[in-house]
Amino acid sequence: MINEVMEYLGRMFPNPKPELNYETDFQCLVAVILSAQCTDKRVNVVTAELFKKYPDSKSLSTLSLEELEQKIYSTGFYRNKAKNILALCNILNEKYDGVVPRDPDVLETLPGVGRKTANVVSSALFGAERIGVDTHIFRVTNRLGLVNAKNPLEVEKQWMKKYPNYCNHDVHFRLVLFGRYHCKAQKPNCENCELKKDCKYYNEKRGEENVCR
Ligand code: SF4
Repeated sequence: MINEVMEYLGRMFPNPKPELNYETDFQCLVAVILSAQCTDKRVNVVTAELFKKYPDSKSLSTLSLEELEQKIYSTGFYRNKAKNILALCNILNEKYDGVVPRDPDVLETLPGVGRKTANVVSSALFGAERIGVDTHIFRVTNRLGLVNAKNPLEVEKQWMKKYPNYCNHDVHFRLVLFGRYHCKAQKPNCENCELKKDCKYYNEKRGEENVCR
């Protein structure tokens, strides 16, 4: 079934392009941190201004906490994000000469960088064979029955074990887009979905409806 899913998603999103704007590895990392609980569109508005004057960890670390909070306020959770981004800049400056580490396990040790962010950034920037599991991927992969998992970490582990050939950023991105625009949380577009024949969620729902009739 995985091959049919990938083929369908490949047709649906032939050239998956990141919706976050960035020009460097560092900007990618900061944009992904800012995107938590925020739309990519909003993040792009904020970073367009922010990166103009503060394009790297050295320049960004010259901001005070209050100044950075003010600049990223509209992305939500701005206090935590600002604190983490400044701490991140300091570590990058002191330990890595401003360069973003390539290893997802090292990335994950940095402030504000959780497992999903580490996987997304390292697969997007450095081709790491990882899959960053967000809320869309968690929902879609469980619905389809590709995994049977209770949380994102379980999805990631099962996915990496079962589908090692599909651990990369394009797959991550196609699954996110599929969840965002087609297999939505509230109203999945099942009627127009080519995967419904084999979809666990769809077939369970149909079974329930038949029982209720
Ligand atoms: S059939 Fe419905 S639930 Fe299943 S993948 Fe398609 S849209 Fe999602």
